[in-house]
Amino acid sequence: MRLHAVHPITKASIDMKQTWQINGDETGPHVLLLAGVHGDEYEPMIALVELADELARTIRRGRVTIDPLVNAGAYVKRNRLGDDGLDLARVCPGSETGSSSERAAHAVSQRIRQADAVIDLHTGGLALEIYPLVGYMLHPDRQVLAQQQQLAVATGMPLIWGTDHRPDGRTLSVARDAGVPAIYLEYGGGSGFREQVADRYKDAVRRVLTQLDMLESGEVAAPDWQYWLEDHRRDSGYLQVKMPAPGSGVFISAVSIGDWVTAGQRFGRIVDPASGQSTTVLAEETGLVFLLRCSVQVVKGDALGGIMPIKRNEKLIINDGEGSIN
Ligand SMILES: [Zn+2]
Repeated sequence: MRLHAVHPITKASIDMKQTWQINGDETGPHVLLLAGVHGDEYEPMIALVELADELARTIRRGRVTIDPLVNAGAYVKRNRLGDDGLDLARVCPGSETGSSSERAAHAVSQRIRQADAVIDLHTGGLALEIYPLVGYMLHPDRQVLAQQQQLAVATGMPLIWGTDHRPDGRTLSVARDAGVPAIYLEYGGGSGFREQVADRYKDAVRRVLTQLDMLESGEVAAPDWQYWLEDHRRDSGYLQVKMPAPGSGVFISAVSIGDWVTAGQRFGRIVDPASGQSTTVLAEETGLVFLLRCSVQVVKGDALGGIMPIKRNEKLIINDGEGSIN
């Protein structure tokens, strides 16, 4: 077992950045672990840095590559977006000669194409809080889709969410085009550091590597997901457009993450301190509150939250177009 710190070509904004390659003694799959695609999502970064030490002791087979700070310029800026104002998850596969986020997108896209499996770790950032979930694109290739479903189940995350495979610009879009199985994790968000999010992510990665028979020891855990939705509708996985705010002001939520709501129930209100006007926000559908605005000053169009129409211990499929649930 060897732990290498690989220093990339340094630029002003990525001076501090390291990536790790950890090799087992036996050949096996190459798993790429990513965090920091968005610069304000801290638990994934710390989970991966701490996992690098642990995996150097526990890996037996294959290789793990860890990039805990994919868009270092966004981290330096303490923002979701890079120092060029770009969202790395919209500009993949990027450009070798572009701005800082485009160059970072280019670099991570090359790593993705060389991997056998990719896990991209996120949170809701400073703006949104998210119920613990694992997501993947509903890949048109049945074999890739099946591998992604297996990886998703292996994470042990309680909510599994397959979404529209068509969006471009994401890390998962690059993986899709290269036929590399890829999943992403979402949990938490807001200010502060949530130790339980970092712990859950470390556990999810361990479980996937155990499933792939890459670690010295460890039993493959039995599937324990609680909710599973595959939603084929266009842009079904696009969080930033869910429940757009009807006006600007301060959003005061009437629900919490993980609550069950019914369509028409009060979801919250927006009060504009400039005009004094108050607008009630109602739940658009019945289901689980899996997304909620926690940066409370909103402008018209900001995502206020998200409701997932799911059932406990049942896998549901929403087809494209007709919106029917099977
Ligand atoms: Zn993110």
